[in-house]
Amino acid sequence: MQAPVGTQTNHDQHGCYPEATTVEDFRRNLASVRTRIDAACLRAGREPDGVRLLPVSKTKPETSLRFAHAAGCNWLGENKPQEAYRKWEAMAELTDLKWSVIGHLQTNKAKLVARFASEFQALDSLRVAEALERRLQTEGRSLDVFVQVNTSGEASKYGLAPKDVPAFIQELPTFCALRVRGLMTLALFSGEAERVRQCFILLRTLRDQLRDSAPAGVGLDELSMGMSGDFEIAVEEGATVVRVGQAIFGARNTFDGHYWPTDSNTEESPS
Ligand SMILES: *Cc1c(COP(=O)(O)O)cnc(C)c1O
Repeated sequence: MQAPVGTQTNHDQHGCYPEATTVEDFRRNLASVRTRIDAACLRAGREPDGVRLLPVSKTKPETSLRFAHAAGCNWLGENKPQEAYRKWEAMAELTDLKWSVIGHLQTNKAKLVARFASEFQALDSLRVAEALERRLQTEGRSLDVFVQVNTSGEASKYGLAPKDVPAFIQELPTFCALRVRGLMTLALFSGEAERVRQCFILLRTLRDQLRDSAPAGVGLDELSMGMSGDFEIAVEEGATVVRVGQAIFGARNTFDGHYWPTDSNTEESPS
């Protein structure tokens, strides 16, 4: 079925989402995002249960995370390993809560991620794969991973260039503790919906091309793409995981460039 065109981004709401401060707020926000995911599935002829909603709690205090959990979240996405680790330690008694690290990792933080995360979505180098493997072996754990791809072509974005992904994937079976699940991307941050859509189409096309030639044990079923401003477009283009922060938790006070560099904040020079 041909996915519909014409769905717009919600980037104009970036920074304006009201803060969720009660369990009821979280129930309502989760339900409303879920309804929009399901509607996008319907438009694209997809089954709604083929899309997992990953609530992203970065910058938010422990109390908010606990409200989100009480409202039914059993997955939380965090961008920074240290912040995530701190929150995991503080909430360790919630044994049904699983943590997904979705941001760039430096090898010296692999130890933290290996200890508590259930999923790491930003794998983009063999050095990080090696560091995680070694630490996971020590912990006696394994980890679901997604390979991050730079689909927007912005020099400042993390992730492998699409052309480097096939060779990278071939190397991954060496790392027994890493279970490769699929690909992840951040689209261009733009109000031009068709350019955003092209990023998602690129990720899906790449996944489809690689799926048949993927080495044994490497799964490429998952596509993690779409956030508060663009998840409906991502779902129309095949996302199996959407990472949604602000539309569930409320706007962040922290400048987003702190979490993922964009061309506009890295190129801005005080002239
Ligand atoms: C923060 C973040 C998101 C969620 O962004 P929102 O605008 O809050 O929905 C998604 N993916 C990554 C990698 C992030 O760092």
